[in-house]
Amino acid sequence: MGQTYRWDQVPLRQLPLEARLATFAEVNQGYTYEEAVLEAQRCLQCPSPACQDGCPNGNPIRDFIDLLAEGDLAGAIELDWTRNALPSCTGRVCAWELQCEGFCVMGERGDPIRIGALERFIADWAAENLHLLQLVDTEYRPRAQRVAVVGAGPAGLAVSHFLARKGYPVTVFEAWALPGGVMAYGIPEYVLPQQVIDREVARLEALGVEFRTGVRVGRDLTLDELLQTYDAVFVGTGANEPATLGIPGEELEGVWTAKEFLMRVQASQMADRLADRLPAEEMSPPRVGRRVAVVGAGNTAMDAARTARRLGADEVTVVYRRDEAQSPSRPVEIDHAKTEGVRFQYLVNPVRFLGDEAGRLRAMELIRMELGPPDGSGRPRPVPVPGSEFQMPVDTVIVAVGYAPERELAARGGLATTSWGGLVVDEATGATSRPGVFAAGDCVTGAKTVIHAIAGARRAAEAMERYLEARGAGHAVWPPAPQTRDPQALLRR
Ligand SMILES: Cc1cc2nc3c(=O)[nH]c(=O)nc-3n(C[C@H](O)[C@H](O)[C@H](O)COP(=O)(O)OP(=O)(O)OC[C@H]3O[C@@H](n4cnc5c(N)ncnc54)[C@H](O)[C@@H]3O)c2cc1C
Repeated sequence: MGQTYRWDQVPLRQLPLEARLATFAEVNQGYTYEEAVLEAQRCLQCPSPACQDGCPNGNPIRDFIDLLAEGDLAGAIELDWTRNALPSCTGRVCAWELQCEGFCVMGERGDPIRIGALERFIADWAAENLHLLQLVDTEYRPRAQRVAVVGAGPAGLAVSHFLARKGYPVTVFEAWALPGGVMAYGIPEYVLPQQVIDREVARLEALGVEFRTGVRVGRDLTLDELLQTYDAVFVGTGANEPATLGIPGEELEGVWTAKEFLMRVQASQMADRLADRLPAEEMSPPRVGRRVAVVGAGNTAMDAARTARRLGADEVTVVYRRDEAQSPSRPVEIDHAKTEGVRFQYLVNPVRFLGDEAGRLRAMELIRMELGPPDGSGRPRPVPVPGSEFQMPVDTVIVAVGYAPERELAARGGLATTSWGGLVVDEATGATSRPGVFAAGDCVTGAKTVIHAIAGARRAAEAMERYLEARGAGHAVWPPAPQTRDPQALLRR
C-alpha cells in the first residue's frame, strides 16, 4: 500500500485583523504542541534535505523535525542549537518562503513544511522547560580564557551562545540600553516580541554571559583596552547608519529615517524599563498624522509602514523605485502590510520634499521610473521618465533606503575596512586585520539578515575557539591574513 501524504499545512493561527491595528501584539500566533507534532509528521525525511541547502546557516532541519515528530522536544532544540543560536528569533523573522521552505520538496505538489513555525515552537518550548544542564554543549568545560563581544545584536548573541555553551566566560559590551541589536530596537513587537529576546538573553546569562549595556566601544572603551583584558574579541556592531536620499527638504519636520522612527516607537513601548537609561525625548512615540509615505520596500520599510498604521495613520503608502518582484522584503511582510491596508506605488522615486512656512512637511514630489537594462545588482535598473513628476500630499515620510556600518570603532581600533566601511575579514574564520579580533554580521556583510549574521558568527566562534586553544598551548600561528575582498561583490550578495 502506498504512503499517504498530507499535502496541506496545519494552519497557523494569526491575530484577527481588527485586533492588529489596535495593538502591537504578535501577529503570528504559532503552533500548539499537537499542531506542531502534526505538521512535523508531514515531513518526508528526505535523504538529501534540500531545505537545509536553502538555509544560509545550514540548520539541521530534517533531523530536528524528526525528533519533534516523535515528541522529543529537548532533543530537537539541543540539535538545532548546535548550529542556530537564536531559533526563537529566526523562527519569527527569517524569509522562509525564499530559504528553507522555498526548497522543501513537499512544496512541489502541495504546501511546504512550515519549518519556521516548527523551529519557533521548539525554541519557545525550551525557554519554558529546560534546566541549566541542558543548555550547555556536550563539549562544555570551564575555560580560563575570557572573550569580549562588542555589540549585542544577533551576531554578538550568537558568538556568546556558541562560546558560553563550551564554557568560555563571555562579556558583551552594548552601546544601546538593552541587548538584542536591531531585533530589540528595530524589528517591531508584532513581528518579534521583546519578551522573546529577553528570554534568549536570560538563557545566555544563565550560561554565565555578562551584559554591559550603555557602553560604546571605540568611545567609552578602546579596542586596545579590551585586548589587554580579554584573550579574544568579537566585533558584531552591525550596520546602523541610515542612508539618506540626498534630496531637497529632507531636513523638514515630519521626515524621519526609519531607524529613528522605529527606535522611538520601540523605546516608547518599553519606557518604564528604559526610564533611567534613555533621555525622555528618545522615548516619546512619533506623531504621524493622517497620510504617511514610506520610501523603500525592504523589511525596514514594511515594518515602518505597518507601524504607522498602528499609530493611527489612515493612508500609508509605500513608494518604491523598482517593482514588486524586486522588493527585498520578506514576502510574508508584504502580505501582512497589504492585509493591514498599506498601499503600494511601484516605479516612483521622490525628488524633493515640500514644506509649509513653519518648516513642516506638506507634500512629496515624485518622478515615475521605468526599468532599464540590469545594474550592478543584476536587477533591471530603474530609470526616471523625463517630465513625469507629480506631487503627493503627506504629513509624514519615513525613509527606509538602507544602512551602512558606523566607522568609528574600526578607525580608532585600527581595523581594516572596505570603501563602504565594512570590516575586512577572512571569510572562513571572521579574522580581522588585528590578531585576536574577529567579526561577523552586518558590520562585515553590509545590511543583511538575522540568519546571515548567525551563520557568520558561528564560523567566527569556531575560529575563535581554535585561536584560543592554539594560544593556550603556546603556538599562536593564527589567524591567517585576511583576504582582500572586492567591496562591490560584497554589496551585491
Ligand atoms: C527595521 C528592520 C527590520 C528588519 N527585519 C528583518 C527581518 O524581518 N528578518 C531578518 O532576518 N532580518 C531583518 N532585518 C535585518 C537584521 O535585523 C540584521 O541583519 C541583523 O540584526 C544584523 O545583526 P548584527 O548582530 O550584525 O547587527 P545589529 O543587529 O545591528 O546589532 C549590532 C549591535 O551592536 C551595537 N553597537 C554598535 N556599535 C557599537 C559599539 N561601538 N560598541 C558597542 N556596541 C555597539 C548596536 O547598538 C547593536 O545593538 C531588519 C533590519 C531592520 C533595521
